[in-house]
Amino acid sequence: MSQGAPVQTVYPCSQCGRTFPHSDLVAIAGNWVCGDCKPAFLSRVMASGAAGASLAGFRYGGFWIRFGARIVDGLVLGVPFLVLFVFLVPNLIKTQGDAANPNFTAFAALGFGFILISFGISACYEVGMLKYRGATLGKMACGLKVVRANGSDLGWGVCIGRFFMWNIVTSGLPYINFILMLTSSIMAGTDSEKRALHDRVCDTRVIYK
Ligand SMILES: [Zn+2]
Repeated sequence: MSQGAPVQTVYPCSQCGRTFPHSDLVAIAGNWVCGDCKPAFLSRVMASGAAGASLAGFRYGGFWIRFGARIVDGLVLGVPFLVLFVFLVPNLIKTQGDAANPNFTAFAALGFGFILISFGISACYEVGMLKYRGATLGKMACGLKVVRANGSDLGWGVCIGRFFMWNIVTSGLPYINFILMLTSSIMAGTDSEKRALHDRVCDTRVIYK
C-alpha cells in the first residue's frame, strides 16, 4: 500500500514486541512476525490450525488459574512427601533416644535429610516437567504451558532458574516471602502479559495451550 514512502516506518513484532522495518517482518496468519520469532510462531500456527492462528498472540494465564495449578501440584507432591514422612517417623522416634540419653544429632540429621529430600523431589518434578512437557501436572490440568517470550520451549537453564526464583527467592525466605509472594501476585494480576516476578526475571510467560 505505502510503497515508495520516503521514511521507512517501523512495526512491532506481534510476538516479541521489538520494532523492525516493514521489510524485515513477515505476515503470518494476519500477524507481523520478526525473523527470530518466525520458526516458533510458524510451528504454533501449524499446531493450532487456522482458528488459533487468527488470535493476535497468546492468551496469558492469570493469577487464579495459576494459583489453582499450584494447588494441584501441591496435592501431587503431597503423596511422595507423605510416604517419605511415614517411613521417617519411626526412625525419628528411635533416634531421639530417651530422656536420660537424648540423641539430638541423629534427630536433627534425619529432619534435615527430610527437608533436603523433599526439596530434591520438588526440584526434579518441576524442572523435569517444565523441560520435557512445558508444564507441571497442575498446569497441564489447568490447560497452561510455560514458554519463552517468543513462544518457544524452555531450555534447562530457564527451567532451573525459574524453579529457584519461585521456590527460594520468592516463597522460600522466611518473613520476606510474604511480601515477595504478594508483590509477585499483584504483578501477575496487573501485567498485560500476566508476568509474575519469576516470569520477569526468567523472561517466561504462562499461556493457555
Ligand atoms: Zn519477534
